[in-house]
Amino acid sequence: MSDPRSDLMDWLRDAHGMEQQAEAMLKATAARLENYPEFKARIEEHLTETQGQAERLTQCIEARGGDTSIVKDMTGRMAAGMQGLGASMASDEVVKLAIAAYHFEHLEIASYRCLIAAAEALGDAEVLRLATATLAEEQAMADWCANWIPVVTRKFISRTANDQSAKR
Ligand code: MG
Ligand code: FE
Repeated sequence: MSDPRSDLMDWLRDAHGMEQQAEAMLKATAARLENYPEFKARIEEHLTETQGQAERLTQCIEARGGDTSIVKDMTGRMAAGMQGLGASMASDEVVKLAIAAYHFEHLEIASYRCLIAAAEALGDAEVLRLATATLAEEQAMADWCANWIPVVTRKFISRTANDQSAKR
């Protein structure tokens, strides 16, 4: 019989790889943005939160005798790079980046809901506390993106109509 604690460890490591990918995506997004300062500021704020989330996961993983997966982290970074490259070739890059950010936050929300349920089932108070705190940050970022998507779409259209640089 397999140990459900090894499943919890797998999910913690998956979450850590996901946060490495998040960090790469957020850095790349912030670096691209020029004409949308409120988007850039929120991305940079969430980048700081993301680095804290990854650090809390690392501590949880190491305290339970695991290590963080270098292979998975590299895969995540490459995926983040490819996504950024795809958006950068689009004339509506800023809109694509907003949609991608919304999408990614929901992947994170799903992952932390899984971790919370697993921590509850296994009576792991530390993982429960960490995952609950992080979920709140992801939900706040997802909510911000949900509100931002129509705003940025209108800004993009307006800048385009006024011959201002709109792409990013
Ligand atoms: Mg995160
Ligand atoms: Fe996030």
